[in-house]
Formats: sequence, C-alpha cells, structure tokens
Amino acid sequence: MESATIQLKTGREKPIRNRHPWLFSGAIRRVAGNPQPGDLVNVVAADGRWLAQAYFNPHSQIRARILSWNEDEAIDEAFWDGKIRQAIAGRRLLQLEPETTAYRLINAEADGLPGLVVDKYGDFLVIQCLTLGIDRRREMLTDLLRTAVAEMLGPVTGIVERSDVSVRGQEGLTEVAALRWGERPSPTLTVMENGRRFQANLLEGHKTGLYLDQRDNRALIGQPALVAGAEVLNLFAYTGGFAIYAAAAGAKKIVNLDSSAELMQQAQQNMALNGYDRPQDEYVVADAFQALRHYRDNGRRNGDEWQFDVIILDPPKFAYSQGDVERACRGYKDLNWLAFRLLRPGGLLATFSCSGLVSADLFQKVVFGAVVDAGRTGQIIRQLGQAADHPILLTFPESAYLKGLLCRVW
Ligand code: SAH
Repeated sequence: MESATIQLKTGREKPIRNRHPWLFSGAIRRVAGNPQPGDLVNVVAADGRWLAQAYFNPHSQIRARILSWNEDEAIDEAFWDGKIRQAIAGRRLLQLEPETTAYRLINAEADGLPGLVVDKYGDFLVIQCLTLGIDRRREMLTDLLRTAVAEMLGPVTGIVERSDVSVRGQEGLTEVAALRWGERPSPTLTVMENGRRFQANLLEGHKTGLYLDQRDNRALIGQPALVAGAEVLNLFAYTGGFAIYAAAAGAKKIVNLDSSAELMQQAQQNMALNGYDRPQDEYVVADAFQALRHYRDNGRRNGDEWQFDVIILDPPKFAYSQGDVERACRGYKDLNWLAFRLLRPGGLLATFSCSGLVSADLFQKVVFGAVVDAGRTGQIIRQLGQAADHPILLTFPESAYLKGLLCRVW
C-alpha cells in the first residue's frame, strides 16, 4: 500500500534533516493520500526528496512526530519492540537497582518514542500516552512493554495509565487515569530511592506518583557537608522528597511548605517510614509566595532577617506556552529574590525550574536579577539538571526541561 505523504514548504526541511522529531503545521505545503489520525506518513522536502517517517495528527499543531530517518526501516511491531528494549537497556546501564526501584524507563522523544512515557515503580509500570499516535497504539505498546520488562528486568504486577495531563487536549484527546493490566497498586506502595523509602500513589499522585527527575538533586541535598546542622526551608515540598535526604544528612530543622494539606501529611508519613522522629520539623500548608513574604516581614527570630541556612525552591511548571514565559520568569524572580533575602551569609539556595520553555541561560539570568535585587552576592557552585533516567536527545533540546542552580550566598 502506498502510504500518505507530507510535503514540506521550500526551505523548511532543515530541522527534520537535523533530526528534530517535531513537524509543525506551518512547515507543511500539502498532505497527500488522506492519512487518518495516527497513521504513518512519509515526510518529503519541497523538491520531493525523502526525509523521514512519522505518525500524523491533523488535530495537533505538531502535525507529525518523526519515528525514523531511515526510508527502509519498517515501522512494525518489531520496530516498537526494538525501541522499548533499547530504552530499557539504557536504564540498566545506570545501575539504579536495588537502591532505587522507581525510575523512568522510557522518556518519549528522547528515547525515540515520541509521546510515550513509562515509569517503573517496583513491580508496577505507569504509562503516559501524550499523543494520539501513541494513544491509538496503546494496547500493542502495553503488551510489548510488559513482555520486554519481564524479560529484561523482572516480573510486572500491574500497569497503570496516567494520561491525565493537559497536553492531551492539544492532541484532541481527553484525560484518563486507569488500571490497564494486572493488579491495582496500593495507594501507599513503597518504593526505594537511593536507599530511602517513599510511598507513591500511582493512580492519584502528581505526574506518575513521584517527581523522579529530581532524584540526583535530592541526593545532592543528602550530603552532610551541605546540610548537617542546617536550618532548611523546603519550598514546594510535595511528599517530602528533599526533606528525607536533608534529615538523613543531619539537618537541624526542616520547614516543609506546600499548598496541599494532604501532601504535607504524606511528607510526614514518608519521614516516619524512613525512621526519623523529628518533632522540631514543621509542615506548613501555605502558598509559597505569601509565606516567603510573611517570613521576610516577620523575622522568625526577633529582628533576625537571615533565617535559613539552606533553601530548596522547586516550584511546579510555570510556563506552558511561549506566551507564558515572561510571566513565568517574573514568578521565578519573585521567589528567588525572596529566598535570597532569607538566607544567612554563607547559606545555600538550590533553585529549580521545570519549565522547558525557560532555557538554562534564561533561568540563570532570572536568578542573577534576583540576587542583585536582594542586595546579596551569590556564587553558582553547581549547575543542575534532570536525572540520567530522563535522558536528553541532542537533536531535541526541548527534552532538557529541568534546570537548577546550587548557589552560595553572602
Ligand atoms: N520537590 C518535590 C517536588 C515539587 S512539585 C520533590 O522532590 O518531590 C511542586 C509542588 O508544589 C507540588 O507538591 C504542589 O502541590 C506545590 N505547589 C504548587 N503551587 C504552590 C504554591 N503556590 N505554594 C506552595 N506549594 C505549591
């Protein structure tokens, strides 16, 4: 069967030649052969030269996502199976088990599987289908995944789908969260991260249960040289990820803050699960912007404005589209400005942005503006990013979404 073809406008083939996996609607001259949503298509240049094979979605601005730059490669079950196994083999290289049992197996575009995210939590898998092309192939992919994981890593007890993400709307899909195969995981399923224990709610927690991408940065905060004896402010604490590590490293006092009361309870449970009995710690349910202003205006210790030795600033994604970037940067600047003001001289700020649209350069400029406005002097002592189980595709800079700076401040 002759497959459908997308022909590009003149001069628009360069990104595809450079192996960027997204084809935007604006680059397309015409679509021939009446492809249905999710169908495979050939992508050709304006002069007809063959460029790539992709799957198609007429309802998305990202009209096609490239699967192969090889004309002879068949996109059949063996193709998908090969990509899945290649991704899993890449995770085995990292030797995360047994100290870490929750990690990303498949990182979508960055693993050659645009739109498919798979995380492993012990014997459970969580899949996210972010695009129509993947959604349509969900059952086949789930079967291949189950078999590949069983053969390469060990038994699979259950598979949960967490496609309750707003980007699905841009693909013309609705949001869904459901058990897809096997046993339903307990909402208090316990997994390991660097030897620490965490409960993860795979069906209802944020993302697929935990913010796995911050694992290495949590481990950094787990270094006694940085936090032993410190008073730590853990902003946007979620279920206490950074706090567990800070406690293990001997932090004197940890103030956790999140807007969700339920999450603050879960953070306390995770602390107990790791055997820490720390009556001195606080679990504050508040808006971080307001709380920081409150701390600034009401020095916690009479007139002492420098209240913390270490501040962790890990806000949720602020920028969802190009139009959000400026507002997002104002939000980052505000938070970082306030945080800098609350640090004792010699204190540390671990500050993050998970907005893919805010580049590392731009983020650093925002933090620069914040330190100047706070009237402080700061050094960057480490540039931080996402953990290695969330690889970055060289030809797809968008896959480097998490960036962070560890700053030392006077
Ligand atoms: N650092 C965490 C992940 C943070 S995710 C970890 O390592 O696991 C971001 C968190 O910010 C979420 O838990 C969310 O509930 C919280 N949040 C979002 N908006 C907030 C706000 N305005 N004030 C306080 N917390 C907020």
